[in-house]
Amino acid sequence: MPENAAVSIKNVSKQFDNVEVLRDINLDVQKGEVISILGSSGSGKSTLLRCMNWLEQPDRGEIRISGSRIGVDDSGKHMSHRELSKVRERVGMVFQSFNLWPHLTVLQNVTEALLHVKGLKRAEANQIAHKQLEKVGMNHKADSYPITLSGGQKQRVAIARSLAMSPEVILFDEPTSALDPELVGEVLAVMKALAAEGYTMVVVTHEMDFARQVSDQVVFLEKGVLIEKAAPEKFFTNPDSERVQRFLATTR
Ligand code: ADP
Ligand code: MG
Repeated sequence: MPENAAVSIKNVSKQFDNVEVLRDINLDVQKGEVISILGSSGSGKSTLLRCMNWLEQPDRGEIRISGSRIGVDDSGKHMSHRELSKVRERVGMVFQSFNLWPHLTVLQNVTEALLHVKGLKRAEANQIAHKQLEKVGMNHKADSYPITLSGGQKQRVAIARSLAMSPEVILFDEPTSALDPELVGEVLAVMKALAAEGYTMVVVTHEMDFARQVSDQVVFLEKGVLIEKAAPEKFFTNPDSERVQRFLATTR
């Protein structure tokens, strides 16, 4: 039997105010794969990502994380808050706006969920947090507060916080879009290293070089429809869809 996909999305549709923002999306993310999601603003990229950890509920279709349903069980019954948070622990998310707690130090930001969601002892949580902060080059700031950090540093802390939970997949929603241009590189370098380490990642991005060099598959959304999915080589040189050809023409 083939191994379960890390994320499996089947026939997912979603409306806001009677407008269909996702239309019958099918997408599998295999373990160890990096998938970049491209598309213009309003095409449904964030909504699709947010469905993957049930921050948004699809109207139709199903989503599985390593084979197990998220949001509803196999009989269609909604999961309890507790069951849902169990599945969500396995799906990391990194936002454009970092979402660090301002009143907590860098270390405390990373240990928060380890202590209060995973229920680890403080010594163990600290050890994991220091290790992950080291990985993103931020351990020297463990005792600093977020306000003292640059945007690139904040985002690296947010990535460490996500890694600390040992997620099966990490979702990134435009992780570099809020950064000054000179800070984008340090965050992309961390993400590139994670990809090389074998992390499963779904990345909504406008960074074409990252999409091309780091992804295994590139996906293009247009008005809620997945109109192209291809390996980067094909996507960037010879896409099937005329829409993607036009999109690429505007980015060159
Ligand atoms: P993208 O991330 O590609 O820019 P989004 O997924 O954020 O696109 O949005 C897709 C569409 O859904 C847009 O038209 C947006 O205005 C709409 N939308 C997103 N979130 C909501 C919401 N919570 N309520 C109503 N409409 C929303
Ligand atoms: Mg978005």
